[in-house]
Amino acid sequence: MSDKQQDSPDDEEDWMKYANAGFGQTDYSLWDEGEAKVEAQPSKASGLANNIDDGDMEDDQLSTHVEEIPRAPSPAGHKHLVRIGTCDHCLGRVGGKKMFDQTIEQAGIAIRTSILRGDSHLEKIREDNPLCPFCENLYQESELLADIIFDSLHPYELKRVQLGARFPKDQMENEEEIRKRFGAGGSDALKTGLVAEIAKILNQRLEGVKIVNDKPQIVALIDVLTLTVELDIRSVYIYGRYQKLERGIPQTRWPCRACKGRGCSRCNETGLQYLKSVQDLIGNPLIERFGAVEHSFHGMGREDIDVRCMGSGRPFVIEMKSPKVRTIDLVQAMVDINETAQGSVIITSMRESNRSEVVRIKETPAEKSYAIRFKLLPLSEEEFAILCAPVDLTHVDVQERGKGKRNKRRKNRRGDKSDDHTKPLPSVIETETVAASEDELLAMKKSELVELVTSLGLSKTGTKAVLIEQIMQAGPPAPTYFELPTNEIIREVVRNLAGVKLAQRTPERVAHRRADLIRRRVVYETSDVIIDINEDGEREVEFTLRCESGTYVKETVHGDNGRTQPSISSLIKAKCDVIWLDVADIHAD
Ligand SMILES: [Zn+2]
Ligand SMILES: [Zn+2]
Repeated sequence: MSDKQQDSPDDEEDWMKYANAGFGQTDYSLWDEGEAKVEAQPSKASGLANNIDDGDMEDDQLSTHVEEIPRAPSPAGHKHLVRIGTCDHCLGRVGGKKMFDQTIEQAGIAIRTSILRGDSHLEKIREDNPLCPFCENLYQESELLADIIFDSLHPYELKRVQLGARFPKDQMENEEEIRKRFGAGGSDALKTGLVAEIAKILNQRLEGVKIVNDKPQIVALIDVLTLTVELDIRSVYIYGRYQKLERGIPQTRWPCRACKGRGCSRCNETGLQYLKSVQDLIGNPLIERFGAVEHSFHGMGREDIDVRCMGSGRPFVIEMKSPKVRTIDLVQAMVDINETAQGSVIITSMRESNRSEVVRIKETPAEKSYAIRFKLLPLSEEEFAILCAPVDLTHVDVQERGKGKRNKRRKNRRGDKSDDHTKPLPSVIETETVAASEDELLAMKKSELVELVTSLGLSKTGTKAVLIEQIMQAGPPAPTYFELPTNEIIREVVRNLAGVKLAQRTPERVAHRRADLIRRRVVYETSDVIIDINEDGEREVEFTLRCESGTYVKETVHGDNGRTQPSISSLIKAKCDVIWLDVADIHAD
């Protein structure tokens, strides 16, 4: 029934433009003298004007003479408008005679008065034709429509409201048709005119509220058929920065996996996988103050659930949806949020924000510093070989391509001709193995077997079968471990990591949600190396690094089985077990 496209508030831009048809026209006094004279002169297209006096209007309208009924603002046109039962408002709206200081109703009354002076028999015409053909008497309802809108806005704090109306499509079309036929050129359409009338009434009642055409806080759309108001309440946006000081808290609310948020025994009816989230710790205290329906959280990137976020904190914008209140004491709110969060989260720098800042926050690639702590364990030669196995660089991140020279150079690269990034990377990195299967041993010559048993330090006497038996029993050779690096080497390797461009194949832990690609990321800075010995006598290393947005930091340390190269692990030839990772700071805003 309704035509969304046509009725959407964005199309309402012109509704505030009052009709100015009739401004500056000079023939007012002419027709005011009495229309009979004018009608007597069949000068314009009004040759049949006299005929429309005979009371057979309806027939005339439908007859072939229809084009010859003159349009307003000619006196005959006005008379016709009166005759067909046009209400005062519509008479003023489409009559083309509205003076600057008149309302359309006043202009309509003026037209009617002058017509009735010559044709008093039209005095009761509205009783005979009680339904205005233009507005179907909607103008009579404008007080009521304004009341309905006023009441619906009542619960909301607002300074800027935009009004709109929804009409049945056929009513709009019919009005348009008769307005174009009988009304003065340039007259306001019914929707524009009626909304302006409602705006005029509301203007007197709404204190401190501006009726606007852009940047509204609420758009009120009244349906003239059902007399209902649809409110589009724009969100309130608040900017801030958060520090997350406790591990195990996700950034955004995480619904329970079992019940998807409905609440079940697994989640203690909370509907949450994790009771706390940065979003809820900040948003829940705010939602009460704003009287909002819900909140939505937009962070400048995010940290993993087990990663803390320190330093000056991560910028975010939180959105309060359908708020009743739009202005609160943000400083007090911040104090309350921090108190309620009991140190899990601390927020700072809270201020008002807007929708476009959400886009900025989401699109800013935040360069970050991280603090990471890991434990040193011995690394075998075989593990080392895996950490350093060649990386297939034909799978470099597609997003990095198309950057000038790099692209040209890449075009000639072997195995890259079809730009095929769907080809899977090998899932296991192959290294030379010393242990051989029985079949492989059987296939070997005796001389080769003798060489092998010698290298394994076994007896080289006996038949081929005896030698194979010996080798099989000995099992794979004991792995050879590298000696753990000295503290000096560790410090030097960490220092030299600054400026290195890493090749990072998508880590296995995120491979299910990210394309399997190799990304190049730069480490800009490393600092604050601390080396301790823990209770078990193992060495633990902690340092800070600043790197490009999107760097996988834990992988930069442990090497992810050769998926990140180089890594601290491959450089110091020791296994690096990451103990924790923190975002030390975010270098943005
Ligand atoms: Zn009307
Ligand atoms: Zn549940």
